[in-house]
Amino acid sequence: MYKTLTLLILLFVLFSCKNDRKTASKDSNSHSETTKTDQNFGIVIHGGAGTILKENMSDSLENAYKVKLTEAINVGYSILKNGGTSMEAVVSTINVMEDSPLFNAGKGSVFTHDETNEMDASVMNGADLNAGAVAGVTRIKNPISLALVVMNDSPHVMLSGKGAEIFAQEKGFLLVDPEYFYTENRFQSLQKIKNREKQKAKKLGSVFEDPYIKNSKFGTVGYAALDKNGNLAAGTSTGGMTNKRWNRIGDAPIIGAGTYANNATCAVSSTGWGEYFIRAMVAHDISAMMEYKGVSLNEAAKEVIQKKVPALGGDGGIVAIDKDGNVAMEFNTAGMYRAHMNSEGELTLGIYKE
Ligand code: ASP
Repeated sequence: MYKTLTLLILLFVLFSCKNDRKTASKDSNSHSETTKTDQNFGIVIHGGAGTILKENMSDSLENAYKVKLTEAINVGYSILKNGGTSMEAVVSTINVMEDSPLFNAGKGSVFTHDETNEMDASVMNGADLNAGAVAGVTRIKNPISLALVVMNDSPHVMLSGKGAEIFAQEKGFLLVDPEYFYTENRFQSLQKIKNREKQKAKKLGSVFEDPYIKNSKFGTVGYAALDKNGNLAAGTSTGGMTNKRWNRIGDAPIIGAGTYANNATCAVSSTGWGEYFIRAMVAHDISAMMEYKGVSLNEAAKEVIQKKVPALGGDGGIVAIDKDGNVAMEFNTAGMYRAHMNSEGELTLGIYKE
């Protein structure tokens, strides 16, 4: 009798262990939260891609970019190291870049044709594929923070313009005076472009044939992170393109184009010529290649950034991190402000093509 009882208990224990394993492996294939403990974590950020050439850069400006990229990535790193979520790290890191006039996001946003600033931003959570975005906001100091509240605290994914600002006020955001976004060098860039445009119009040439005008859109900021629980998140924030008109919206707030994250594959943030990034659905395409074709993050990023986007006529780059902590910083322009920090706190910084 005693022996039979022991055997029955043993069988019960064995059966429940088998079931546990089944549940665990099912979870790792779905988008649900994971709770691995010895997980690699990491962060990768960009501060825009474009014609960034060593010969056009002063030592002090180059240094200022490096210092700000390092400061921003350290904010995210300490959040992740202390067990914070990838989404917390995304937003806090991007806030640092939005508050700097160096980047085309928040404070340093470029000017529209009408001499205003209109900002776009988005975030995405890889654990549940939840996302939030704002487009064309003019009085939000940190658009990425508003994108997060749209995700967490509204029934929608994307809000735009005045409505987004009413929502922001209801959620306790202080609206800033649009003057806050005035920076002299961005204003002068707009004037130069308008002048060149006038000259071009006289010659009936396309404004996009002019490299100066073509490159007037870069400087967006973006972030992709993997946290200690194996959860991925991404975010992107931008002032868009200098001289944009008609409430133009770029790729940055479009989920799948400017930002994408999925725990089953990777987290991606894009920067570049937004119209082409929307048409190529860049961020989602990289994730989809990994999911459906089983290719590595690097292969997928190369295929999209070095082949698909240029084949359409566009340019730019991405930063991305996969579920194992592998990183891609791929661009087809002369440079991209970028930084990566792994679990050990080792930093890789880059500006130009290696
Ligand atoms: N992708 C952004 C846009 O087209 C610009 C940038 O990345 O700098 O709005």
